Amino acid sequence: MTDVLKTLILGSGPAGYTAAIYAARANMNPIVLAGSQPGGQLTITSDVENYPGFPDGIMGPEMMERFQKQAERFGTEVFFEIGEKVDLSQRPFKVFSNADKTYECETLIISTGASALYLGLENELALQGRGVSACATCDGFFFKEKKVFVVGGGDSACEEATFLTKFASHVHMLVRRDELRASKIMAERAINHEKITVHWNTEVVDVLDVSQGKVTALELKNNKSGEQWTEDAEGLFLAIGHKPNTDLFKGVLDMDDSGYLITEPGKTATKIPGVYACGDAQDSYYRQAITAAGTGCMAAIEAERWLENQEG
Ligand code: NDP
Repeated sequence: MTDVLKTLILGSGPAGYTAAIYAARANMNPIVLAGSQPGGQLTITSDVENYPGFPDGIMGPEMMERFQKQAERFGTEVFFEIGEKVDLSQRPFKVFSNADKTYECETLIISTGASALYLGLENELALQGRGVSACATCDGFFFKEKKVFVVGGGDSACEEATFLTKFASHVHMLVRRDELRASKIMAERAINHEKITVHWNTEVVDVLDVSQGKVTALELKNNKSGEQWTEDAEGLFLAIGHKPNTDLFKGVLDMDDSGYLITEPGKTATKIPGVYACGDAQDSYYRQAITAAGTGCMAAIEAERWLENQEG
């Protein structure tokens, strides 16, 4: 058991490290538990070109190392542990980690992020960042004049497909049913786009070609007729949903039907005073590094002020 911390931060993506930078500079001596994917989702993207301040872009993993260094410079301690259980029934709050440690804290900042859902194909994982992506906004630019495929039929898939038409030579949407789940306006925009072709009842069976170290083709299947064929491809974008990493807080904090933590409008405060949620664990809408960093900053400032009021 450690001394009671002023704040403990769960998660080490842009939200967590930004919260740490602000909390450390406010003398809150934060500890960050880095979680199961240290550095968060940016560590699985290549170049980040839309984060202000990096006119030439920066590699995702390098960017997250810099976030970490900046947080540590002001005294943040980072432990490569995963919060596995929480007790928020009274203060100090308790967090139990996978290293058999118990952390006690006056305030808790939850920045556990979200994970894009993947199809679960072996080659899909092997070719992540080499033609396979779950973020068109992050990676679309690298597919100039390329033939790309988007899996999914929801708003994200339609939005990503439409976004990708700015770069790709042609975008093929692979929809597993014979209708889209997306809202009418987003669906129509995609279906009517001259650079988008929708393939109904179509699923990805395999991603080729790992031996070449990049996506060269997809093995597709029509799930109605059973027909299977290979299609040349240079990019595969998954848009089949995200899952916020919030299982830890089920039954403890309010969340929406998809598991995103609910906070006060325009704030990061949860229903438990002293507990804050920021980044993709709380944001189903923007899901950008810059907005995650912004809400991380908000969480640290809210935590500091709340603590000050308790102490004062
Ligand atoms: P959704 O859950 O809405 O849609 C997921 C899509 O992926 C569905 O078409 C689903 O098919 C398909 N899918 C799921 N699993 C598989 C699989 N294994 N293989 C093939 N296809 C699969 O997720 P979204 O990310 O699109 O949207 C999440 C939320 O965010 C929604 O509420 C949406 O409205 C919102 N959103 C809003 C936007 C906006 O307003 N600008 C933009 C983006 C998202 P099936 O339909 O058959 O289940």
